[in-house]
Amino acid sequence: MQVEVSRRKFLQGSVAMSIVGGSSIGVTNLLASHDEKEAKTSITTKTGTGEAKEVATLCEMCVNKCAALARVENGVVTKLNPNPLFPKSKNMLCPRGNAGIQALYDPDRLKHPMIRVGKKGEGKFKKVSWEEAYEAILNGTDKFTGMNKILDEEKDNRSSFLFCAGEGMAEHTFKTFYSAFGSANWLNHASLCLQTVISGYGVTLGGYPQADLDNAEYVIMAGANRAEAIVTPDTMDIFKRTKRRGAKLICIDPRFTNTAAKADKWLAINPGTDLALVLALTYVVITEELYDKKYVSESFNGFDEYKKSVVDNKYTPEWAEKITNIKAKEIYKIAREFMAHAPKSVYYPGRRSTFSNSDFQLRRAMAIFQGLGGGIDTKGGLVFGKKLKLGKHAGIEPIYAQAQGRAVDDASNKVKGQAPYNDCAIVSGGGSWVAWRNRYLEDRMPYKVRGMFIYKHNPMMNMPNTQKTAQMLEKMELVVAIDTMPSDTVMYADVVLPECTYLERTDPVKTFGGIEPSIAQRNKVVDPMFETKPVMEIMRGLTEKISKPIFDITKKYDEDVQDEIKDSSEEEVYAEFDLTKPFEHSQEEVNEHMVKGLYGEEAVEALKKHGVFYPDMDKYFKQVSANEHQYYPEKKRYYSVNGGKPKTKTKKVECVISNLSTKGVDSMPMWKDEYNFNVPNGKFRMLTGRHAQFTQSGTSNNAVLRDLMPENYLWINKRVAEKKHIKFGDMIEVSSSVGKTRIKAYPTEKIAPNQLFFVHGFGEESESLTWAYKNGGNDNAVIEDIIEPVYGAASMHETNVEIRKV
Ligand code: SF4
Repeated sequence: MQVEVSRRKFLQGSVAMSIVGGSSIGVTNLLASHDEKEAKTSITTKTGTGEAKEVATLCEMCVNKCAALARVENGVVTKLNPNPLFPKSKNMLCPRGNAGIQALYDPDRLKHPMIRVGKKGEGKFKKVSWEEAYEAILNGTDKFTGMNKILDEEKDNRSSFLFCAGEGMAEHTFKTFYSAFGSANWLNHASLCLQTVISGYGVTLGGYPQADLDNAEYVIMAGANRAEAIVTPDTMDIFKRTKRRGAKLICIDPRFTNTAAKADKWLAINPGTDLALVLALTYVVITEELYDKKYVSESFNGFDEYKKSVVDNKYTPEWAEKITNIKAKEIYKIAREFMAHAPKSVYYPGRRSTFSNSDFQLRRAMAIFQGLGGGIDTKGGLVFGKKLKLGKHAGIEPIYAQAQGRAVDDASNKVKGQAPYNDCAIVSGGGSWVAWRNRYLEDRMPYKVRGMFIYKHNPMMNMPNTQKTAQMLEKMELVVAIDTMPSDTVMYADVVLPECTYLERTDPVKTFGGIEPSIAQRNKVVDPMFETKPVMEIMRGLTEKISKPIFDITKKYDEDVQDEIKDSSEEEVYAEFDLTKPFEHSQEEVNEHMVKGLYGEEAVEALKKHGVFYPDMDKYFKQVSANEHQYYPEKKRYYSVNGGKPKTKTKKVECVISNLSTKGVDSMPMWKDEYNFNVPNGKFRMLTGRHAQFTQSGTSNNAVLRDLMPENYLWINKRVAEKKHIKFGDMIEVSSSVGKTRIKAYPTEKIAPNQLFFVHGFGEESESLTWAYKNGGNDNAVIEDIIEPVYGAASMHETNVEIRKV
C-alpha cells in the first residue's frame, strides 16, 4: 500500500490552493463546460498535461458546506475552486476549504481496517481485511468482546450499544444504521456545541433564525467571533456588505478579538454575564417604552409578566454594570440605538458553544429582546427563510421488545417544579454527552451499556475532562470507530473502519434553507484511495455480516417475534429486521430518488453537473459584477415566510413558558447570583474558542493549515505576565481540578488580567498524527465537566485554572 501522492509533491500543489475565491472562469463558460459530457478541454491544467476535468462538490472542512469545483488531473485533485452557483457560499472558498486537498492526501490518513492488538489507548493495531474487521465486531477477539456476546448476555437489549457522531453530511447514513439497530442511546455534537442556542430560540421563536445581514442597519454581536473564529461567506458579507453600507456593529466579548477590531464599538464583558446585559437592555427598552407596541401586543405571549419581572427585579443598566463590567451609559445607548433602527436591527443569535450555566436563558432573553423591535421574519432582522423539499429515503425502524429506553438518571422523587433527571432538566434527541459519560463512569445507568459506535467524532478532544473520556473508552468493551484520521479517540478503538474523505464520496443530497434556498450535493471527485470506503458502503458490508446473527438473538429473547414467526414465517419476520435494507442502493441512486419525483430529471442532472439546484436557477442566476452574483431576484427572496410572526405554534414570542417551571427551570429569563463572574485570587478564568483556519480537532493534522497557524498560544494579560516573568514563547503549564496541559505564552493587552484564552483543537496525543502530536495545548484537558442545567450542554467558560512557568 502506498500513498499515491508524495508529501513533497502535494506541498508544491498547495501553492495553488492558497488563493481565496477568484475563479477566473466566467459564469457562461462555467455553465458551458458543465454542459459538455466530458469537461476536460475547458479547464486550465496546473501541470500542463492538458487533461483535466472539473467536478462539483461541497467542502467538508467545516460545517458550512461551501460549494467547490475540484480540478482533477490524471486522477489527482490539483485545485479546489469556489463554485459561484451556490447561494450559501457566494463564490467563496476560504483558506481552510482550499486546504481540503490535504485532507485527501494526508499521509497519516487511516488507510485500511484495523483491529486492536495492544492495550486500550496504546494505538497498537493490526491491519485486517474488511471481512476480518466485520467478523471482529460480530464475534470479538482475544482482546475484546464481540457484539454477538454482548447482545446475547444483555438479552437483546439493543440499547446496550451507544452510537455517537460528529457533524457531517453522511451523519444521516450512520444514523440510519443506529435507527435500524434499535438502540435508544444516541449522542451527537449538539450538547458540546449549539444545543442551548437552538433550543433557546426554538422554544421562544419556534426556530433558529438566520440574521439578514445584507439589510440590517444595526448589529449587536456578542460572543460570536465572526472575523476570527469562522470566516465563512456570511462572515465576509458582514464586513464586505453590512459594514460597507454603513451599518453599525457592536462587538461584545471579553477579549479584544479581530471582530472587536473591526467593530464600531467593543465592550469588554465579564465572561458568562451576557444574560445580565440583555436583561438590562430589555429594562431600558421597556421602561422608556421604546418597543414596537403594535408588534408586542399582536405577537407576544406573556409580555406583561416578563415586563413586571424585569422592572420589579430592577435589572437596570446600573445593576448590570456591576455584573458585566460594561458601563451603564453604554447599555442605555445601545438599547436606544438598537430600537431606533428596529426592525432592521439584529441581536446576532450566535454560532457558538455553550459558555455558561445561564446560556439557555440568555438565548431566550436575546430572542425576546429582538422581538421587542419587531425584527422577526422580516427584512433586515432575524429571518426563518424557506427550505426546499426533498423526497424521503426510507430506513427501517424495527421494534425490539427487549430494547430499553435511553439510559438516563431519573431523579428519585419526581416532583413538579424540580428537574426530572439528576443531570439536567430536559433530554434532547442529541442527549447530554458529558452527563451521559459521567453517569456511565459512575455506574448510574439503568442497565449495562457495553459497546459503542463512533462516527466522525473525537470525544477525546471535544469534550471537557479528557481523562474521564479516556476512562469511558477504556471501560467500554467494544469500541468501533469510523473515521478518516487516526485521532486520539481512534487510538482507543477496538475496531477501526476507515472512511474515505469527502472528496472521494457522494454524500446524501441536502436542502439548504434561507432567504435564497437551494439544494446541493457533494459529488465524488476521485475514487477512494487505499482501502477506504464511504459510510454507505461500510454500513452495507457491516450489516450484511451482522444482520442475520443478531436477528437470531432477537428471536431467542423476543416473544413477540417468536409469535410472529409462528403466525407467518421466519423469512417474512426477518424482512422487518433486515439491517441491510437501507444500504442496498448506492448514494447516487438514493439522491436521485430524493430529487427526481419533486423536481424532475433536470434537478438530478444539475446536482451532478453543478452541485446545486433550485427552481428557476437558470432564469434567476446572474453575474452582476466581478465577484458578485444574483441568485434570486429581490422580489423572489424569502425574507418573510410567516407573515412577520414567530414560528411557534401560537405564532407569538413566548416570554413565559410555564411548562419549563414544571421541570425546575425558570419560566422566563431571570438572573441568579450563582451566575456572577468570580475568580479567586491567583486563579484565572479559562476561555476557549475557535480559529478560522481550524475546525476543532478535525483539521489539526493538516500541514497546509499549520503553515498558516503552526500552534496555539496562551493569551495572558501583559502586565500579569510581566509580574510573573513570563515572556512570549515561554512554556506554561495550565492546570485545573481535572488535568493539565502545556502551551507557549502570548502576553497581550487584549485580555483581562483574570482571564486566559487559547484556541481549541490542539495538543493531540495520538502519535499517528505527525503534525498534531503534542502540538500546543488541549483545552479540554483542563476544562471541568460542568454542565448547564437545562439541556446538560457542556459549559465551556466556567472553569478557573492556575498557571506555572515550566
Ligand atoms: S467556510 Fe471554508 S472550510 Fe467552511 S465549508 Fe466554506 S470553504 Fe469549507
